[in-house]
Amino acid sequence: MSAVQSVSGKSPSATPETYDVVVVGAGLAGMYMLHRLRGLKMTARVFEQGDGVGGTWYWNRYPGARCDVESMQYSYSFSDELQQEWDWSERYAPQAEILKYANHVADRFDLRPDIQFNTRVDRCVFDEDTNRWSVTTSDGATVVAAFVVLATGCLSNARMPDIEGISGFKGKVYHTGNWPHEPVDFTGLRVGMIGTGSSAIQSVPVIAEQAKHLTVFQRTANFSIPARNAPLTAEEREIFRKNYPEVRRFAREEARNGIYTELPDRGALDDGDNDRRAKYEARWRHGGLTFMSVYNNLALDKTANDTAADFVREKIAEIVRDPETARLLQPNNHPIGTKRICIDTDYFATFNRPNVMLVDIKSNPFEEILPNAVRTGGKDYEIDALVLATGFDAMTGSVAKIDIRGRNGQTLNQKWAEGPKTYLGLMSAGFPNLFIITGPGSPSVLSNMIVSIEQHVDWISDCIAFMRDRGLDTMEAKKDAEDNWVAHVNEVAHTTLYPQANSWYMGANIPGKPQIFMPYIGGVGPYRQICNDVAAKGYEGFAMTGAERPRKMAAS
Ligand SMILES: Cc1cc2nc3c(=O)[nH]c(=O)nc-3n(C[C@H](O)[C@H](O)[C@H](O)COP(=O)(O)OP(=O)(O)OC[C@H]3O[C@@H](n4cnc5c(N)ncnc54)[C@H](O)[C@@H]3O)c2cc1C
Repeated sequence: MSAVQSVSGKSPSATPETYDVVVVGAGLAGMYMLHRLRGLKMTARVFEQGDGVGGTWYWNRYPGARCDVESMQYSYSFSDELQQEWDWSERYAPQAEILKYANHVADRFDLRPDIQFNTRVDRCVFDEDTNRWSVTTSDGATVVAAFVVLATGCLSNARMPDIEGISGFKGKVYHTGNWPHEPVDFTGLRVGMIGTGSSAIQSVPVIAEQAKHLTVFQRTANFSIPARNAPLTAEEREIFRKNYPEVRRFAREEARNGIYTELPDRGALDDGDNDRRAKYEARWRHGGLTFMSVYNNLALDKTANDTAADFVREKIAEIVRDPETARLLQPNNHPIGTKRICIDTDYFATFNRPNVMLVDIKSNPFEEILPNAVRTGGKDYEIDALVLATGFDAMTGSVAKIDIRGRNGQTLNQKWAEGPKTYLGLMSAGFPNLFIITGPGSPSVLSNMIVSIEQHVDWISDCIAFMRDRGLDTMEAKKDAEDNWVAHVNEVAHTTLYPQANSWYMGANIPGKPQIFMPYIGGVGPYRQICNDVAAKGYEGFAMTGAERPRKMAAS
């Protein structure tokens, strides 16, 4: 029985099912949100369009898929029992293991009874008379909730390229972000891969081992650092487990990107050539995302950045035997790190295999896809199967698919037509009681996302509890606070090299999408402090209104 049912004043039979909170999405964000709401004794319904939990790790089952933040850190910290009992098998766990972890969490915290699978949220409409959201789902049902939390994911709306002839292709077409659940066997097949971002960089070496031939169609070369993945020993796990209080504290409060690592104390130009090279070499050998943390100005100073970019370009030239292929694989149109840096296992070396070919589609754009080939630069490349590693409509794509209507019937898509506008990435003015987890305007995809997810879920939970305890009915970002935040997010971004890249951070991978740097680059520590200060000042920058009648929620 819902806690807010009585507020409507109508008889229960005449009203749709009502909840304190509707959560959209059962990835790592939606799952933790539900857990916290349970702790607050609130009624919640989670709607998930897939038939299982795990979000990213449910959908991205392509060969080679794994995390790029080390598993001992890319894991929930909210339960010490959980982090002490779960054994990660490798430095970077593969997708299947992360999905198993998500399922373990769902079972351990008994989340499933409140999650409705195979159900997409299509519409959310705010009723200004009742201060309630009506949420309509793909099964035609409508439920009512005081709050809606969008845990819809930043990289969950797979981007299908618009290439002429693709629908007439005779072989199978796969998207890495929506991979079949049963294993795909490429044995004996000529495979075409479109895209060279993170998913391609992970899957190319694995597919190349199986396929008869692999043709990789590249528009933009990307920087990638060796992962140096390896099994985790019991001792390595133990060191982390013993140090978790400090590791997690550091990741939340001090690291800019939510990853525990040594913080650099100098810039790249403060060292001479030999010392600098030795440091890059050591990080290259160590592997992983911390390559960019070797100096403190790589994201700020182009000359400093060039030293790191040149180092990686040289490594590519050393690894790849064919000079023309090496040249094409060397990124040259963006500073290193200004697109999410990739980490790989033998990506560049895979181009030394006799069954792998790189085709440059920047100088020779696609003409069309034929029933059995890709035509580009006047040449036909025969293929039997096509893999689209074309990424996502990032950060806003899944939100934009829902018809969200706030005050005065304004849709969120109308409001965000020139780019997303939020206060703290958490709320958008005119859309009361609607929260976004890791939304645009928060550190989000620039961070270890579980750190950012937990921070947002905790903040939102505390905020809802605050409102309940004071009998408040609505909360809404104030327009001036939002405008100031949007300006701040932009200003900070423009002190860095990031906006120089045509990245999905900027929306540049989606034709027609406004080009605005979406995530907040100020760092997870400073951002957390800002959010905490806002809360401590009674949610400064947010307008809150009381209920006409005392609000009844489950725990009140
Ligand atoms: C291949 C890959 C590797 C990654 N590796 C890392 C990594 O190593 N480190 C890192 O920090 N981040 C990584 N990420 C980012 C990753 O998305 C986040 O770390 C995290 O998993 C996001 O969790 P989430 O719950 O916010 O979103 P998601 O996991 O995307 O879950 C969102 C869920 O919402 C559902 N949904 C969306 N819209 C609707 C709707 N209208 N109705 C119902 N359900 C809906 C989706 O089906 C999905 O299940 C990776 C992303 C990808 C794609």
